[in-house]
Amino acid sequence: MRKNDHAEPIKGVINKLCLKDIEIKGKRVFLRVDFNVPLDENLNITDDGRIRSTLPTINYAIDEGAKIIIASHLGRPKGRVDMHYSLAPVAKRLQRLLKKEVTFLPDCIGPKVEEAVSKMSNGDIILLENLRFNPGEEANDEKFSKALADLADYFICDAFGAVHRSHASIVGITKFLPSACGFLLQKEIEYLQGVVNNPVRPFVAILGGAKVSGKIDVLLNLTNNVDKVIVGGGMAFTFLKAMKYNVGDSLVENNMLDLALTIQEKLASKGIKFYLPVDCVIAQSIEPGAETKLVTTQEIPNGWRALDIGPASVKLFSEALESAKTILWNGPMGVFEIDALSRGTFAIAHAVADAYALTIVGGGDTDLAVSRAGVAESISFISSGGGAALQLLEGKELPGLSALTDR
Ligand code: AMP
Repeated sequence: MRKNDHAEPIKGVINKLCLKDIEIKGKRVFLRVDFNVPLDENLNITDDGRIRSTLPTINYAIDEGAKIIIASHLGRPKGRVDMHYSLAPVAKRLQRLLKKEVTFLPDCIGPKVEEAVSKMSNGDIILLENLRFNPGEEANDEKFSKALADLADYFICDAFGAVHRSHASIVGITKFLPSACGFLLQKEIEYLQGVVNNPVRPFVAILGGAKVSGKIDVLLNLTNNVDKVIVGGGMAFTFLKAMKYNVGDSLVENNMLDLALTIQEKLASKGIKFYLPVDCVIAQSIEPGAETKLVTTQEIPNGWRALDIGPASVKLFSEALESAKTILWNGPMGVFEIDALSRGTFAIAHAVADAYALTIVGGGDTDLAVSRAGVAESISFISSGGGAALQLLEGKELPGLSALTDR
């Protein structure tokens, strides 16, 4: 049994049509996914997590006997054909993962695509070429949206990483087809919206990463339901400087100092406990091999910058997590990409993984930190979408979700 199996279930919050609500046997479904995978210089896929995360939806559609037309973007080819961004390597990997033939087409609209689709049998899979080879995609162009929609009977969106974008294959297409969310999108929304709107309390949020400005709206949105806020990473030093600490050359956003104080006052007025690092690992540069020292946050010398939290902060933060029933973590505690500066982030990853709580890691760098720490299996839910996850945690609308058909 996984440690977090006891965690309280999240209440479903989706009021949109979902994949299981529709009868797709024998129907053509246009499945928008996020196959924007990292490639090396030889165009080999270095991490296929995004492909794997859509397999439950694809396998369900195969088992139900749908004709599945899959579409995605890859990179930023800016509306032009650029074979560096071809989805051909993805087609091969998808075929291997599904153990089933995937027909890769060299375009995403046009007579050849229409002909191939018209010959599909139930359970067949087509992968279209990169949607962003066509300028109509990012422009949310109506004609391009209609051409995509004309290929299918239903639209299924499973591209959580792209639902914050108003693009043709995310928003435009929904004007022409009944549109439902796939299993990945459904799960992301249920967990992330659930934690923001309806957390089992005590609810502790851990925020980190480089800048306050990137997380400010998340912090403000969480103040409605959170019991404790822990701040680490570079963003902590704007808060500490605002409190008149000397933070040396640490990352500080001087235009955020007043806001940092206002936020602390707001949290205090609502009785929300607020935790900042009490010690840190400092260096004179962010170079692997640079000399590091451990100091308290009161004793950061000029010329040095704080790049990780220290062991006393790890102890403080871990104790603050002990009573939590829900934990949300977004943003590393330090420059964890460098070994000597990774201990604080990895220690917090272990503390989160060991907590008897529903644990949600909110995308971006934090999911990498959790897997490098070797504890990904012990986290209840790891979000797959950076920008979309942040937007959801900020309480903002996701255009690609709003556009789906209401239940
Ligand atoms: P974000 O995208 O805002 O979550 O920021 C993630 C990045 O923040 C990572 O690449 C970390 O290396 C960086 N980071 C974390 N802590 C610090 C710090 N104390 N100083 C500078 N950068 C940091």
